[in-house]
Amino acid sequence: MTVSGVISRLEGAGIVNPKQEALWLMSHAIGATHTQLLARDSFTDDEAGKIEAVISRRVSGEPLQYILGVADFYGRDFAVGPGVLIPRHDTETLIDGVKKVFAHDEAFRFLDWGTGSGCLAVTILLEFPNASGAAVDVSGEALSYARENAERWGVVDRAEFGDNGGEFALIVSNPPYIPSCEIAGLQREIRDFEPTLALDGGHDGMRYYRELQGLAMMRLKRGGYLVLEAGDLGQVRELCGMEGFTLAGKILDGGNFPRCIIMRRN
Ligand code: GLN
Repeated sequence: MTVSGVISRLEGAGIVNPKQEALWLMSHAIGATHTQLLARDSFTDDEAGKIEAVISRRVSGEPLQYILGVADFYGRDFAVGPGVLIPRHDTETLIDGVKKVFAHDEAFRFLDWGTGSGCLAVTILLEFPNASGAAVDVSGEALSYARENAERWGVVDRAEFGDNGGEFALIVSNPPYIPSCEIAGLQREIRDFEPTLALDGGHDGMRYYRELQGLAMMRLKRGGYLVLEAGDLGQVRELCGMEGFTLAGKILDGGNFPRCIIMRRN
């Protein structure tokens, strides 16, 4: 086994950044730096076995972040693994959305509905030192990652896990929004490895937005904000017209899609 052999295998499996991934995966497997790896022309049987274990997972289509056990969100590492949705860069627009409507030192209580890895809740707690928030998820596995990430980033004292009742000034959510009929056509890395529960938004992808609207009418203060991730333009249109709310802003993602929709409760 050689570094260049691993790179060619990843390339052959259709991995877009084979060299970068080879170095990340190999260094994760045997604890060597990239420079050390590049200087090696052979590996012991023990090392080769460890490397093979991670490379074969990657070649089978498993997402890199599950194998490494971490994903970047807003410039910080979050623990992830099978059973929890991998944070997406597009979702960082929701943090920018919250920053648009709350000042840095403002004290407010929020709800992160469908928290997954906890990337949104933990990042809000880090970016707003006087905020406190509740992270909820139907998946117990996801909640345990959210708790781990809150501990990793030292915000557990301002976090609640589960719904303890009360009102919120902000409800933030990246709910499952992919229409059920589109799940089978997703790329293999997502479809076969990430939790369908975190992706499938029912026949029109709107199922959880409707739940969120109902929840917000009961639990979001008047004048409070609902900051949501949207999946397509039809959803954007429906969200912007949500009864009982007024559009307070949109944030574009890297592809110029209005990924984050900010609605203010009337
Ligand atoms: N943006 C995610 C994807 O493309 C979907 C996340 C979601 O349904 N909230 O896989």
